[in-house]
Amino acid sequence: MSRPTAAIIDLQALRHNYGLAESLAPNSQTIPMVKANAYGHGAIEVATALASMAPAFGVACIEEAIALRDANISQPILLLEGTFTADEVTQAEHHNLWLMVENQPQLDAILAADLSHQIKVWLGVDTGMHRLGFQPEDLAAAYSALKASRNVHDEIVVTSHFACADDLNNSATSQQIATFDNSLPRDSDPAMPMTSLANSAAILAWPEAQRDWQRPGYMLYGNSPFAEPQANADQLQPVMSFESAVISVREIPAGDSVGYGANWTAQRQSHIATVAVGYGDGYPRHAPNGTPVLVNGVKCPLVGRVSMDMITVDVTDLVNNRAKIGDRAILWGPALPVNEVAAACNTIGYELLTRMPDRVPRIYR
Ligand SMILES: *Cc1c(COP(=O)(O)O)cnc(C)c1O
Repeated sequence: MSRPTAAIIDLQALRHNYGLAESLAPNSQTIPMVKANAYGHGAIEVATALASMAPAFGVACIEEAIALRDANISQPILLLEGTFTADEVTQAEHHNLWLMVENQPQLDAILAADLSHQIKVWLGVDTGMHRLGFQPEDLAAAYSALKASRNVHDEIVVTSHFACADDLNNSATSQQIATFDNSLPRDSDPAMPMTSLANSAAILAWPEAQRDWQRPGYMLYGNSPFAEPQANADQLQPVMSFESAVISVREIPAGDSVGYGANWTAQRQSHIATVAVGYGDGYPRHAPNGTPVLVNGVKCPLVGRVSMDMITVDVTDLVNNRAKIGDRAILWGPALPVNEVAAACNTIGYELLTRMPDRVPRIYR
């Protein structure tokens, strides 16, 4: 009755992964990152599924936060890049959002705003990634200015972001931690300020990065941020299964080519299965010949160019289980990690998940 292409989302796996993040740092609060439509999984459904466990959520911009408010998510929501324009400060107050403060204009907008409640602020320091945040030597002044403002809640979180935590042998992470600790403003109350460092990779592999708050994103969706096996990451359960079905099968002689541009030519008599998924569904157009696709549970090579709505797969080797119309094809999921497909396509799983368009129905289980 309908096109077989869908992303099946396993909310039990999502909760398992959140529980793993919590258990790795029992003294930290764990804020799920649900930016970019929860890395393609559906921000409203993901936030709703975690609402009884999560103290707050993280998104990239106020539009993403308001979409969650409209869906009755009531936790505080952290805007990871803070405000883009000064008028967002009063909107943030109205919607109970927390603001990252990463630069002087953002800070000035908070000080100048006419607020009736104090707003919670996370103050970013640049410990080496050189993308956002105050320079370490400017942090104390920024902190004092926020502390002195009647617009700002007393509990300020000082935070930074890692550039290389997914590289288990890179000393940059330890250096960033040391820079962070040295830059912290001295406060009369030794419990202040609160701090936050860890993303998924740090939660899984850098226990020395544990602070008051941690910010898992990719790991919640059940995939490893590392290129090699890692004991904690190996416990993650993939949340998305991206599925479709075979809609045509044919036999072609050796020497015939398949697809646009005829960029793959059969070296032997071959069985070719056409699957109803393409770049219009977020399957990467630049996936090369040989990219793995599961047909009837067996890894088969993609052959020929990816079309908008279809791909072609060499199923010749399925001798005992001939592919036929209606058979299931899995593009990525628990039995075929999105990282493996991404590696074949010279990108990362983050991108493949995040850019999946609305055209692909998400089915929640
Ligand atoms: C997206 C993001 C995270 C989560 O990163 P993952 O690698 O997906 O865990 C953490 N912190 C900030 C500031 C982010 O923008």
